Amino acid sequence: MDPLLSVTDLKAYYRTEAYGVSRTVRAVDGVSFDLYPNEIYGLAGESSCGKTTLIKVISGNIKNPLRVVGGQVRFTAEGIDRDMVSMTSDELRKTMRWKQISYVMQGSMSVLNPVRRILRTFADIVATHRGIRDRAEFRKEMSDHVARLGLPSEVLHSFPHQLSGGMRQRVAIALATIFHPKLIIADEPTTALDVVVQRGVLQMLKQVQAESRNTVLLVTHDMAVHANVADRVMIMYAGRIMEEGVTETIFQAPRHPYTKHLIASLPKIGERTARASLPGSPPNLSDPPAGCRFHPRCPAAMDVCRTVVPETLQLADRHRVACHAVAMEEGLPLPRPDLAPATGSTAAPNRTEDLL
Ligand code: SF4
Repeated sequence: MDPLLSVTDLKAYYRTEAYGVSRTVRAVDGVSFDLYPNEIYGLAGESSCGKTTLIKVISGNIKNPLRVVGGQVRFTAEGIDRDMVSMTSDELRKTMRWKQISYVMQGSMSVLNPVRRILRTFADIVATHRGIRDRAEFRKEMSDHVARLGLPSEVLHSFPHQLSGGMRQRVAIALATIFHPKLIIADEPTTALDVVVQRGVLQMLKQVQAESRNTVLLVTHDMAVHANVADRVMIMYAGRIMEEGVTETIFQAPRHPYTKHLIASLPKIGERTARASLPGSPPNLSDPPAGCRFHPRCPAAMDVCRTVVPETLQLADRHRVACHAVAMEEGLPLPRPDLAPATGSTAAPNRTEDLL
C-alpha cells in the first residue's frame, strides 16, 4: 500500500535572537516515517521532544522563527501529490486545510469562537472552504453530521461555554471531520480531560476513523492512550525517532532503552513498588549531546553512544529502532567511536548555518 504521507529526513529548526545572541534549536532533526491510509498512528514522547514542531510542519503551519532546513513531507491522495513544505499558504488554504488535512487541538476553545453559537463556527468554516448554497440544506447537513457522531443536534445551537470540556472536544472532532479529510491530526486531544470523558472522546475518534477509513495522527505523551487506540506507535526523543512499530510490539517487546523506560513507568493494578525515574532531563536542543541524544540518561550507554549517531535499524516488518545496543544484540558490528567527530550534534555535516 502506498503511503498517504511520507516524511523524509525532515529537519525543522527554530532560529532565535536574544540580546545579540543567536541560537538554533534543532527541534526535529532527521525524522523519516510514513503514514498509511486507514490507520491510527501514535506519536509519543515527553514534552519538548519535537512532537508539536513535527505536526506544525506536517500541517503546513511553518511560521518564523520555525524553518524547515531539510527534508520533505509528501502528501499523496486523490490526484494530489505535493510536498507540504514547498506549498504556499494560499495553496494550503485552498487545497489542503480541512479538506485533506484537519487538526483537532488540545484546547477546543482555541478553535470554537466563544461569542458565536457552534453552528456559526461550522458555517464560517464551510462558507470559507466550500461555500453554502442553501441555509436550510446546510443546517440539515450539519445536524446529520453531528448526529452520525453521536452528538445531539442541540449542541449546534449552544455557545461553547454552555458545553462541558468533553462535549466541546467532541464538537471539535465533528468540526474537523466536516469535509471527511484523509488525515486528521489530533494533538493531545484528551490531555485536559478526566478519564471518563477521555474514554468518550477516544471512542469517538476511533469511530470516526473506522467509518471514514482515513488516517489519524494521534499525538500524546500518554502511553496508555496509545496502547488503547493506536495501530502503530512512534517514540520520539530530543527531535529524533528512537523506535517505531506495531502497537503490540512496542508494548510487549520494546527494544530501545527509552521505550522500555516509558513502558515500565506505566502503573499496573495491584503493583505497589515505586517506579524508577530516569536520571537527568531532556537535553537542550540548541546544544544537543553528540552521538545518541539519549546517552546522558541511558542505563545502557557505551563509548560509541557518546560520539556516533545510531543508524535506524529495520528489525522486522514495520519495527525500526535507532540504538547501538540493539545493533549489537542483532550481531551487527559497532562503529568505532574514535572515527566519529568528538563534538557536534550529529555525525553528519551540519548545513544549518548555511541554510538559515
Ligand atoms: Fe542507549 Fe546507546 Fe542505545 Fe542511545 S544508542 S539508547 S545511549 S544504548
